[in-house]
Amino acid sequence: MSSRRFWVGGNWKMNGSLASNKELLEHFAAATPSGSAEVVIGAPAVYLNQLAQIVPHGWGVAGENCYTQSSGAFTGEVSPEMLKDVGANWVILGHSERRAIFKESDEFVAEKTARALKAGLKVSVCCGELLEEREAGETQKVVDRQLLAVVKALSEEDWENVVIAYEPVWAIGTGKVATPEQAQEVHQAIRQFLAKNVSQAVADNTRIVYGGSVNPKNCVELGQKPDVDGFLVGGASLKPDFVDITKARD
Ligand code: PGA
Repeated sequence: MSSRRFWVGGNWKMNGSLASNKELLEHFAAATPSGSAEVVIGAPAVYLNQLAQIVPHGWGVAGENCYTQSSGAFTGEVSPEMLKDVGANWVILGHSERRAIFKESDEFVAEKTARALKAGLKVSVCCGELLEEREAGETQKVVDRQLLAVVKALSEEDWENVVIAYEPVWAIGTGKVATPEQAQEVHQAIRQFLAKNVSQAVADNTRIVYGGSVNPKNCVELGQKPDVDGFLVGGASLKPDFVDITKARD
């Protein structure tokens, strides 16, 4: 097994309230989460300050988006510095919902990744193919294209603070999870891509996590694959037994 620390992120998306966040986080803390995995919760920006104060000991807090500038006339946007200011230490960037609904390009996602890292945040950068792209045999081409933009925007040292989330779009929120073999195949190819386009050290050390309908039942088998270094979890991170997913490799 590799020396990469298992990483489990929750992506609450546009869900939550002050009251429900508190209740859920109290459940998580009481259920004694994994001591060995790195756990991070992503929530709407307005709740990050609350989360930073009450997440279980040692857990990180993530924004779900940020802009490329520190401040200024960008109505409605949130800067990486602001995420840090309210207690976040991570940001999730390039989620397929941002790419599809908000028309974020590969280059924009890459620029935001570089800026967030420069501001001192860690980044979970997402990639993944649509169903029609998988059916056309283009999975790797799409993932490579998305990641090549990120590679071009980052220095080799930047990768220390990056987790890649491979999230096939057809598996997100659909209950249709990739098989462990499908996930392993793409994760292994991403590692080879990093070796070729960045360095062998970055390929060996970068966590590549799987996202798309992960739940407490399927996480153990997925987490046994050698190139699956954790998960990014949507729907199941809003339920008390999310804690079981943090223990998938324990
Ligand atoms: P899901 O979402 O676990 O609900 O499929 C994953 C994600 O969107 O990150």
